[in-house]
Amino acid sequence: MENMLYIVIVLGLVFGSFMNVLIYRIPRGISIILPSSFCPKCRKPIRWRSNIPVVSFIVQRGRCISCGERISWVYPAAELLTALLFLLIYLFYGFSLVTIKYCFMTFMMLVAGFTDLTTKLDAANFECGVIPEAFTTGLVFCGFVWAFFTPPGFYEALAGSAGGMFMLLIPAYFYKVFTKRDGMGDADALFMAGAGAFLGLLPVLFVVILSAVLGVLTGIVVIAVTKNRGYMLPFGPMVACASVLFLFAGDPVMRLLGYK
Ligand SMILES: [Zn+2]
Repeated sequence: MENMLYIVIVLGLVFGSFMNVLIYRIPRGISIILPSSFCPKCRKPIRWRSNIPVVSFIVQRGRCISCGERISWVYPAAELLTALLFLLIYLFYGFSLVTIKYCFMTFMMLVAGFTDLTTKLDAANFECGVIPEAFTTGLVFCGFVWAFFTPPGFYEALAGSAGGMFMLLIPAYFYKVFTKRDGMGDADALFMAGAGAFLGLLPVLFVVILSAVLGVLTGIVVIAVTKNRGYMLPFGPMVACASVLFLFAGDPVMRLLGYK
């Protein structure tokens, strides 16, 4: 049992580290296999000693060992978050296929959500947040494949993905009414369809509502801090957040509604 906990944490850190490679390279069109990791400033390859998740960041005090360029704290934070979520999923669902399924879903969603967030924050290089289509399309596809041999089953996945896509029109409609702009794109709809394919119809309703609430709350905070009413929030991170929260809060909520 204890050994298993360590394995899950290490797996989480390794996947988190791989995620950092993906969220940097996918929107910039760099191959995800070659070249091996390099420093974005001095372009020197990162040796294995400097590539140990979290540990290298602390040992090198958040700087590149070759040129001294600051490394964003987002990288170790993303690694720790992935490890923490993998661990929580394991503690919630035990040693089972469902655990692997949810870890897989969480990884895909974090990649899409973090790519959306980091490209949105990198205004110098990107006009708006990028959601990698390969990942959201892959999310829907993989959700169906998993549904063949894990709950909630194939028909739920079908209803969930169609429902998720359709229900996204509701927050999109209100967004447009309030801001008089198109706020959500096809990528967001596909992302929600992916959540539905993994979780089912009723859960995806929960995800739609929660991600809209998270979006409004974050929007209020962002407007209060930046005083910029025109700021366009990326919606991807909200979908990722809400879907992962469902894994832990979903059961009591469903029971409260009388569905379990
Ligand atoms: Zn460097």
